[in-house]
Amino acid sequence: MLAVDDIPCAMMVTDVQGRVQRMNLEFLRIVGGTQRHWHGRPMEELLPPAARIFAQTYMFPMLLHAQGVKELYLHLLGADGVPVPVMLNAVRKRGGADAEDLIVWAVFVALERSRFEAELIKARADAEGLAARLAASSEQVERLNHELSQRAERVEQRNRELSELSLTDPLTGLKNRRALELALHAWQPTSGHACVGSLLLVDVDHFKRINDACGHPEGDRVLVALAQRLRASVRATDLVIRLGGEEFVLWLPGADAGIARSVSERVHEGVRAVRTALGALTVSVGLAAWNGPADGDLLAWLLGSADKALYAAKAAGRARTIAAEQAPNPSG
Ligand code: GH3
Ligand code: MG
Ligand code: MG
Repeated sequence: MLAVDDIPCAMMVTDVQGRVQRMNLEFLRIVGGTQRHWHGRPMEELLPPAARIFAQTYMFPMLLHAQGVKELYLHLLGADGVPVPVMLNAVRKRGGADAEDLIVWAVFVALERSRFEAELIKARADAEGLAARLAASSEQVERLNHELSQRAERVEQRNRELSELSLTDPLTGLKNRRALELALHAWQPTSGHACVGSLLLVDVDHFKRINDACGHPEGDRVLVALAQRLRASVRATDLVIRLGGEEFVLWLPGADAGIARSVSERVHEGVRAVRTALGALTVSVGLAAWNGPADGDLLAWLLGSADKALYAAKAAGRARTIAAEQAPNPSG
């Protein structure tokens, strides 16, 4: 016949008030002490404070009401004072006619479950921490990216401003010689393809006299007014640049010599509207037209030819346009 001390499960008997009547060896192994020590003591002494509250508010009322409880998970105070997680079943036994009711308790140590739960809680906390760190670092990466692209945009903008500045004449706001070179380079088709375009080289007549008579600032004002007239004489797709001093170039892509001459007439007309202390302003114009396969340094040929024609216009009495001979081959 098996005795309760042989059963591999902690067992205890109390009266209905929870006073200990008997514990088996397995139970004493958990809570320490002796049979004699525990006899008659309230079972609350076996519980840490939190479990005590649970016992009073839930376990005992449930026991008395339902005559039993099953799989309650709580802690007992271990022999060394450290709480031991346990699973607990209890049942109320009727005492019969002359005997009191008793409660029989069966307790299973649940260290594994407790460790497993602790691991789960830690894993979850770690995962949450990791997720939070990830979110924070991706936010930081996003912020840095945003900042970088803003800086790149500012650098880009600054570059655009700088390159615009490097292509602009500060006095008149017209483009400069560098812009003309770029425009010609972009326009000139691949070697051998036919192309049509004309260049007008415009030089103010006796400009030095204006400076001498009215001062340099007045000379500047006249140059600015002239620049406006020149701009107004051409289409938006044409390019007007200040080559330097009182010399300007009108580049008319697609315009043959005939069209260029009529543009030149508009230029003379517009320039005459610029009033100076010395009377109406006039300019001399050298016209160079290109019509043929593009080859060699077209700009050098256009400027060289227009310059010769301009010289001829000055020699012929100024305030006029003279067209250069059209070269059969600009590189020749
Ligand atoms: P021509 O009819 O032969 O061209 O006579 P010109 O007086 O126009 O020619 P010249 O080359 O002898 O003089 C050009 C003058 O333009 C000389 C120079 O001082 C003046 N000049 C050049 N750049 C500027 C400028 O930015 N502002 C002013 N006010 N004058 C300038
Ligand atoms: Mg000049
Ligand atoms: Mg001049």
